[in-house]
Amino acid sequence: MAFALRGVSANVQVKRSAGARAGRALTVRVQAYGMKAEYVWADGNEGRPEKGMIFNEMRSKTKVFDEPLGLDASEYPDWSFDGSSTGQAAGNNSDCILRPVRVITDPIRGAPHVLVMCEVFAPDGTPHPTNTRAKLREIIDDKVLAEDCWYGLEQEYTMLQKTTGHIYGWPAGGYPAPQGPFYCGVGAESAFGRPLAEAHMEACMKAGLKISGINAEVMPGQWEYQIGPVGPLELGDEVMLSRWLLHRLGEDFGIVCTFNPKPVRTGDWNGTGAHTNFSTKSMRQPGGMQTILDAVDKLSKTHIEHITQYGLGNEARLTGKHETCDINTFKHGVADRGSSIRIPLPVMLKGYGYLEDRRPAANVDPYTVARLLIKTILKG
Ligand code: ADP
Ligand code: MN
Ligand code: MN
Ligand code: MN
Ligand code: MN
Repeated sequence: MAFALRGVSANVQVKRSAGARAGRALTVRVQAYGMKAEYVWADGNEGRPEKGMIFNEMRSKTKVFDEPLGLDASEYPDWSFDGSSTGQAAGNNSDCILRPVRVITDPIRGAPHVLVMCEVFAPDGTPHPTNTRAKLREIIDDKVLAEDCWYGLEQEYTMLQKTTGHIYGWPAGGYPAPQGPFYCGVGAESAFGRPLAEAHMEACMKAGLKISGINAEVMPGQWEYQIGPVGPLELGDEVMLSRWLLHRLGEDFGIVCTFNPKPVRTGDWNGTGAHTNFSTKSMRQPGGMQTILDAVDKLSKTHIEHITQYGLGNEARLTGKHETCDINTFKHGVADRGSSIRIPLPVMLKGYGYLEDRRPAANVDPYTVARLLIKTILKG
């Protein structure tokens, strides 16, 4: 029998002695067994698509504590790892530092066990070059805080069969029916892999992540979940932790989830994106459309700076077809899914709300997209 006592999880063995049977006291032995904390970080591989077919950028390792520590990241000690094995250091000076920044309940192991999102630091104590969260932290000043930025990221991904790398649910050695019936589809002929998508949503909710929905995507075997609306650092942390959960659950289901921007490059198949919805306080107030249009104008002037950091391999996805705008063109429009920036129809009708940056690829670094939107729109 297991139960929680003043935040301490315990295994309890109840010994039924002869005395107990006779109505006297039971012998109860309480043994605290501690807590598992899974330290999670991003490696130095940036989700490269040629590797992204099979390998993702998430890494983690487990630290056991004698007593549960709760959900305050500052209670957790730094830890180190071998950066030479993650593309983050040379072998002769390979220790990198993990610094906990966000703690959530581990929905797989259950409470009191936790997942610990970490920033990576170099041995000299400076943020590691791959630590894009630190770069985001640095740009958030009082002016940015006053604008109360909200983000909603639509994380698309594609399921692959573990043994073959073939798209999950596609016929062996062939293709399914042409795209059309699959987006938001239901039924065994349309939706491939729903048990994993559902288990992932459930896990995110149990962990307290702000997942706002899921849907089957245009290409069969492709799915989407949304994180948000949340602030910039929360967006990065929650997208990274939700990605880790997706890969981790994929182990149990025997399914590989890839963020490759264009998993099927021949034929008429949609790529995989991470539309990022964004608003500031002034955009969300009546009359906010003017601020939204000003933001679009600023974004039109920094297209190249954004597009070069919106995910490796994105050029294979942003072709101007399959609900994308060509990578070399900047276009905005209302309800236009072939634009770089879309203003949703309900936002246009109300006259305020948010904009959608449709350019980021599924493998985009969420801290980077959050930073670039602040940099261009609030500092440009
Ligand atoms: P789409 O119609 O493009 O498929 P989704 O419904 O999948 O859009 O995703 C929209 C995302 O935008 C959700 O994550 C939602 O939480 C988020 N969102 C809603 N309102 C705002 C807002 N004012 N600012 C930023 N994000 C928002
Ligand atoms: Mn070792
Ligand atoms: Mn969506
Ligand atoms: Mn989508
Ligand atoms: Mn969208």
